[in-house]
Amino acid sequence: MSNVIELKVPDIGGFSDVAVIEVAVKVGDTIQLDDALITLETDKATMDVPATGTGTVKAVHVAVGDKVSEGSLILTLETTSASQSAAAPAAAPTPASSSTAPQPASHTGAADLSCDVLVLGAGPGGYSAAFRSADLGQKTILVERYATLGGVCLNVGCIPSKALLHNAAVIDEAKHLAANGIVFGEPTIDLDALRAYKQKVVGKLTTGLAGMAKARKVEVVRGIGRFIDPHHLEVELTTGSCQDKTGDKKVIRFEKAIIAAGSRVLKLPFIPEDPRIIDSTGALELKQIPGKMLIIGGGIIGLEMGTVYSTLGARLDVVEMMDGLMQGADRDLVKVWQKVNEHRFDRIMLKTKTVAVEAKTDGIWVTFEGEQAPAEPQRYDMVLVAAGRAPNGKQIGADNAGVAVTDRGFIEVDKQMRTNVPHIFAIGDLVGQPMLAHKAVHEAHVAAENAAGHKAFFDARVIPSVAYTDPEVAWVGLTEEQAKAQGIKVGKSVFPWAASGRAIANGRDEGFTKLIFDEATHRIVGGAIVGTHAGDMLGELCLAIEMGCDPTDIGKTIHPHPTLGESIGMAAEAFEGVCTDLPPQRKR
Ligand code: FAD
Repeated sequence: MSNVIELKVPDIGGFSDVAVIEVAVKVGDTIQLDDALITLETDKATMDVPATGTGTVKAVHVAVGDKVSEGSLILTLETTSASQSAAAPAAAPTPASSSTAPQPASHTGAADLSCDVLVLGAGPGGYSAAFRSADLGQKTILVERYATLGGVCLNVGCIPSKALLHNAAVIDEAKHLAANGIVFGEPTIDLDALRAYKQKVVGKLTTGLAGMAKARKVEVVRGIGRFIDPHHLEVELTTGSCQDKTGDKKVIRFEKAIIAAGSRVLKLPFIPEDPRIIDSTGALELKQIPGKMLIIGGGIIGLEMGTVYSTLGARLDVVEMMDGLMQGADRDLVKVWQKVNEHRFDRIMLKTKTVAVEAKTDGIWVTFEGEQAPAEPQRYDMVLVAAGRAPNGKQIGADNAGVAVTDRGFIEVDKQMRTNVPHIFAIGDLVGQPMLAHKAVHEAHVAAENAAGHKAFFDARVIPSVAYTDPEVAWVGLTEEQAKAQGIKVGKSVFPWAASGRAIANGRDEGFTKLIFDEATHRIVGGAIVGTHAGDMLGELCLAIEMGCDPTDIGKTIHPHPTLGESIGMAAEAFEGVCTDLPPQRKR
């Protein structure tokens, strides 16, 4: 039986008069539930409006450039069956998918447990999704193969690395004080005690998470999960501190699922197994401090761990295929870091790759190729492989659930964190770069809210990045290099810390604060800080970008004196030519 219905703009988060930037359908098209109809652009985000009915388009009532609000008529649709009414709430936007959707399996057996929302993986993405789901009244089960919650970030990532970096920074700081007449003796390093401190930090946080799961009545099932159809996950139960299987299995039936299975260290095929060759997890175990250490990969993780090992006594070499370390950050920031850290390195080999690694009794012998490759193989006491991370998408039976996974193991999602299977969401490292904990947490909240029937979108303007090296290198939004590559006309303002009273008082005035403004709108679109505590200050720049601040908003905000954070206000003043803490500037 056919029926004509009207599809209207749903609740779009309180926005009105929003521009239509794309119309994806025309008269005569057959559309399915959730197909994207139009794309809207607010000053915060773009969003697709999905179909809430199935049928043939009879008339389209909007065109590109029109302004619409909640309730505006999009199209009239001749429905062919009992499709949803036009008043139905917006369904998920259709996810863009370059991976093909597999045919789902069908589980006919019984289930041991059931829930509204199942979360697979208890990293920052997974536990945040589970806790938010429970807070929204959903019966939630969290499946994790390891004994503790917190995933890579809490157990073998962000937190233990920062616990070690903190100790390294104190040692380095104590050395700097010699120039001020305060001389400490050479530190005695008790590796067992340092390792125990790091483990205590991790334990405090992971125990806290277990308590919060209990308080929310989130049921944690310990084991390796694998989808067996679109509504069932089989868990091989595990025990002990690793992934030891007990031999028992549990089948969980779920209404909605959130996949948060994260990522793992990328292994390079030509590297042999040897205890002297470690990845970031091995580096955090801090078994010994080598005399000579090679870091393969000049990214943030490798350089952070290198900082720790160097402060504890190792000499470093680093090899990087690209033309600079810490890719992603503007070169002026990296230059400051590099100058302060030169003393740690014997060799920084750029545009160079590792082509062979041989484990011999006297050390690990490595052969390089490229612009700065030494002619002969080099001997190292330890090699840290920090060449990136790979997503776990291919290891969870996603195809049984009909969830598409790309060749590289990522799961593609839309802005509601929905996979190609509408009741299954995915978040965190598994859905793409940047692989950062704070991105995973925000995605988790969006997925949990949508799974609970709310409407939420991941529409963050920017995701910040921080290298917790010494000095720290922190950046957010558009970089100068990106602006140049994209042909966006920007203006920049730099406040050198040599003019900051606090930085001088700290004896650390090598850094600077840089703000990047869009010349057309005058709004801040990017910013970066290199210097001590840069990461702690970056949040202000994130907020300024999210709020669409201009230099006056930032410059006229009173920052406390004397702080490093003042440099942000002063950089904004400098952009307008009104900073009185710098020599006279040209007024804009
Ligand atoms: P993960 O943390 O990877 O968690 C996934 C979880 O799923 C794991 O616990 C895993 O055991 C579990 N799992 C996977 N498959 C299954 C299965 N089949 N069954 C059951 N359980 C499963 N990010 C930052 O933002 N700041 C930092 O300073 C920072 N430092 C880092 C330092 C290091 C050394 C490393 C390695 C990473 C660092 N990161 C940092 C990255 C950060 O750790 C990740 O981005 C973050 O952990 C991703 O969270 P996630 O929830 O997506 O996945």
